[in-house]
Amino acid sequence: MDTHLFSISRLYNLNPIGLGTPFVESLTSYITRLAEAHNVTLGALIGKEITPRLDKHYLNKVAIRGGGGLYKSASSINGVKLAALDMVASLEHLTLRSDLQFLTLTTYSEILPTRGLLRPKKAWCPKCFEEWGVNKTDIYEPLLWYIQEVKICNVHKTRLHTYCPNCSKEIPTLSRNIRVGFCSHCAHWLAQSNTDSPLHDNETYYWDYWRVENIGQLLELMSSNDINPGRARLKIMLNQALKVTTLREILTLMDIPKSSFNSWIVKDNFPSFPCLLRILYCLGISLKQFLTGDLNTINFNLRPFPYRKDCFVTNRFSDGYIEEYLEFFANSDVTPPPSVKRIASIIDCDRRLLYIRAPELCKMISKKYIDYIQARSHDRNEFVKKQVVNAVNILNRQGIYPSRRKVEELLKMPGVVKARAIQLVWKHEKEKLKQEGRL
Ligand SMILES: [Zn+2]
Ligand SMILES: [Zn+2]
Repeated sequence: MDTHLFSISRLYNLNPIGLGTPFVESLTSYITRLAEAHNVTLGALIGKEITPRLDKHYLNKVAIRGGGGLYKSASSINGVKLAALDMVASLEHLTLRSDLQFLTLTTYSEILPTRGLLRPKKAWCPKCFEEWGVNKTDIYEPLLWYIQEVKICNVHKTRLHTYCPNCSKEIPTLSRNIRVGFCSHCAHWLAQSNTDSPLHDNETYYWDYWRVENIGQLLELMSSNDINPGRARLKIMLNQALKVTTLREILTLMDIPKSSFNSWIVKDNFPSFPCLLRILYCLGISLKQFLTGDLNTINFNLRPFPYRKDCFVTNRFSDGYIEEYLEFFANSDVTPPPSVKRIASIIDCDRRLLYIRAPELCKMISKKYIDYIQARSHDRNEFVKKQVVNAVNILNRQGIYPSRRKVEELLKMPGVVKARAIQLVWKHEKEKLKQEGRL
């Protein structure tokens, strides 16, 4: 590395992107861009410059334990705990900046429990990348994309992607040779994608949108002085809610057990982030109101939580989850059995991902589905054949010639006799009547 370049600070005083906005850059993105600005790999920057300066507490231990440790737990660098604080301190020392904590969630360490907070791997909006590429503005990764509860891009109304469209792999937050906007496995430019499902079709669209807007506000407020992100606020808010409605109604609206509610209001427990969002949604107040408003005079707009209870699901695609899901359907007698495509849409992922993760289970499910469809169409054919035989006889008894049109009219099944197998049955039945001298 060209150390002579740095007369004052050891590393460039690179400006973080989007400070004070919902789209503020993540610290891991900043580190990656810092390496690019110095024309070195991230591995070199971390190994030679950053690791030696890390506080002994956390990251250095991780780094000593084996080089890969820091990369494995890299997403925590954007989080609320020591890993983030350590990295902020080290980078601020090297860049002489004093605002890098706002690229992490440390401001909210009191109210954001780690559980269910950050994605372990990357997620991105291909359209954002594309737009920045076309406009030749800096390519970066907003902190928003690392928050597990953020599922969509509210600028482009698209679902965030979590698998490289080229190699179908998940992309780690940091790796030695990573470049922002590119897959670290196959170097694919992530603006290019081939799967774009329209979001409005998705039943959770409104909830997805509510979440990303609210979390965006949370990030926007991070550097402001008006926030008071203390734990006590939750108790105040819930007690206030109990003044306008009953405990029973609150529990029903939020679909939570009484014991959880009690642990928040009596003890000092705090819900996971997904659960906090659901509480606020049901009370009809925004995260911003929760953080900045006067909770003693706040107006609630109570409403039930209409979506799947997903408070405790942290990562739908985590190892084991998909397999468990597929195994269930492969061995169950659910009727009708779902197709692999249907399961993919329930889990909300690409069908190909399921085939990559568990090809054998997918084959079993697919076979079950095809067998069912075939059996059903066989049953339906048999049913229609019987109906046609009946219709021919009924018409004949009424003195009406059982023409194709008359049969179809009687059955209210236009065009049904056109099918070859049905036509044969119709002809055969007429022949039989003729031979018996009845037609
Ligand atoms: Zn976007
Ligand atoms: Zn790839």
